[in-house]
Amino acid sequence: MCGIVGYVGKNNNSLHVLIEGLKSLEYRGYDSAGVAINDNGKIKIIKSEGNISKLENKLNMDIKSNLGIGHTRWATHGKPCENNSHPHRVGKITLVHNGIIENYEKIKKYLIDCGYIFKTDTDTEIACALIDKIYNETNDKLLTMKKANEIIEGSFAFGIIFDDDMENIYTMRKDSPLIIALGENENYIASDVPAILKFTNKYILLEKDEYAIINEKEVKVYDNNLKEIEKQVNTYEGSMEVAMKNGYEHFMLKEINDEPKVILDTYKQFVNNDLSEIIDNMPDLSKYDNIDIVACGSAYHAGLVGKSLIEEYANIPVNVELASEYRYKKNFCNEKTLTILVSQSGETADTLAALRKAKNSNTDTLGIINVVSSSIARESDNVLYIKAGAEISVATTKAYSAQVLMLSLIAINKSIINGNISKDEAKDLLKDLKKLPDDIAGIIDRKEEFDKVAEQIYDNDDVFFLGRGIDYALSMEGSLKLKEISYIHSEAYAAGELKHGTISLIETKTPVIAIVTDDKIDEKTVSNIKEVKARGADVTLITTEELNKKYDKSDFYDRKIVVPSTNRFFQPLLTILPLQLLSYEVAKLRGESIDQPRNLAKSVTVE
Ligand code: GLU
Repeated sequence: MCGIVGYVGKNNNSLHVLIEGLKSLEYRGYDSAGVAINDNGKIKIIKSEGNISKLENKLNMDIKSNLGIGHTRWATHGKPCENNSHPHRVGKITLVHNGIIENYEKIKKYLIDCGYIFKTDTDTEIACALIDKIYNETNDKLLTMKKANEIIEGSFAFGIIFDDDMENIYTMRKDSPLIIALGENENYIASDVPAILKFTNKYILLEKDEYAIINEKEVKVYDNNLKEIEKQVNTYEGSMEVAMKNGYEHFMLKEINDEPKVILDTYKQFVNNDLSEIIDNMPDLSKYDNIDIVACGSAYHAGLVGKSLIEEYANIPVNVELASEYRYKKNFCNEKTLTILVSQSGETADTLAALRKAKNSNTDTLGIINVVSSSIARESDNVLYIKAGAEISVATTKAYSAQVLMLSLIAINKSIINGNISKDEAKDLLKDLKKLPDDIAGIIDRKEEFDKVAEQIYDNDDVFFLGRGIDYALSMEGSLKLKEISYIHSEAYAAGELKHGTISLIETKTPVIAIVTDDKIDEKTVSNIKEVKARGADVTLITTEELNKKYDKSDFYDRKIVVPSTNRFFQPLLTILPLQLLSYEVAKLRGESIDQPRNLAKSVTVE
């Protein structure tokens, strides 16, 4: 989590670059922020609780400074407040940190015995003091970083300023991402590319256990033996525009509106231009007898959709695991298992740890990732990129949909291999694929319809989502979306399970959003909807054009949203849209901070 930016340059542009950079990293954390700059040979630190604009109000932007580091925090150790925010400063060291120091208590005891006094509740201040202690002993900056790396357990990327060197920024990383960006007579460090795109599009990826020294003229990178190494310079091809709102009120709405293009760009990798043939661009899935899908949050929900499709059509068992559980439990994968890791950022700490565990278990790994060259993308045996582009809103929409699409394409591929779908049937699927972007755009255009439904829901404390099979997996994602951005409590229930306890929570006017898109079990779900309706629930039905023919005149719902029908592989990509748009409209009616919901962050790089 959190965003780090650093600047060193002839143009003395520190404050401006730090603030611009932090603003574009705010999606990574935003409970407090701070900067440290070289102010005529002395370190000046300014910090603030809250978001970057609160910090900006405290700054005199006219100050010229050749060097500085900045941080937007997502607190893990110590409450979000000015005192705990970064940069931290101990002795000769000023430092910003992304990650968690797992053994900080042990190090803290040792440092207290050595005479250090601590002023904050953070793990970061301990790392800062440790680096100060080692530097006092070695008087060698590179060696100090290496020795600190040997002692510190956990995840980190650090931006460091040494008091006796106001010409260089020092940086090192373990499991948190960090890039070094290259400008003209000025260079930068950042947690992610958007932070520096206003200034340059050239960057170096710092890898685990590497160290760097950066000044206005040059960047030197060292490996773990402190040997200087050559690094590849990358050029970011995307434009700044992709990271902007394009006139939409919120990134979330912009990103939902991106979905037709994202879906097209994602499937284009696997079909020829006129969509008449599947191009065999997938890794070979023939040798696998079973699949584990490991992910967190919405990516986990995408995995559940994938499970339904792969099991039903490819006829092999699929196990979907939460990465935070998978990494500490007994697993039964073997050389016939494909372990699929799903992560938008490719830096999700739990998913990355799960990948490393899977690799130790002699199983092949496949990443489904958005951010190119991210850690999971690089470390997986194979990677399939969703083409979602930069997703800024913390609540995922377009990346989730692209993950669902990628898993559907895997289901189709494996079903063909296993002989459960003929090549001709696959061609029919392609016809539906062609229609998808327009169908998605058509649903997004029906904004007023969703506004009306949102008005029925927004003023409630509890909402229930019901569905069976894939519709249950979609209910889980719909419920998470609502909770994340509107803060309304909600539960997703397998429709048949509700009566085993939870139906006691249904009262007169309790909002229930019921999803019925599967014509194999629609009648079963409808019976469950009738059970809640009989207890006074206010039911919004989400169904397909086909099933609407059957239920058009029924009285088990109060209102309905009808989405176009398509084949089972692609139906979830249409059904999810009303759920995403409803959450958005509800959060808007409640006046919540839609793109930056409280307590959350976009790229969860801590455990
Ligand atoms: N663990 C540090 C803290 O709580 C850094 C968290 C972050 O990555 O924002 O301050």
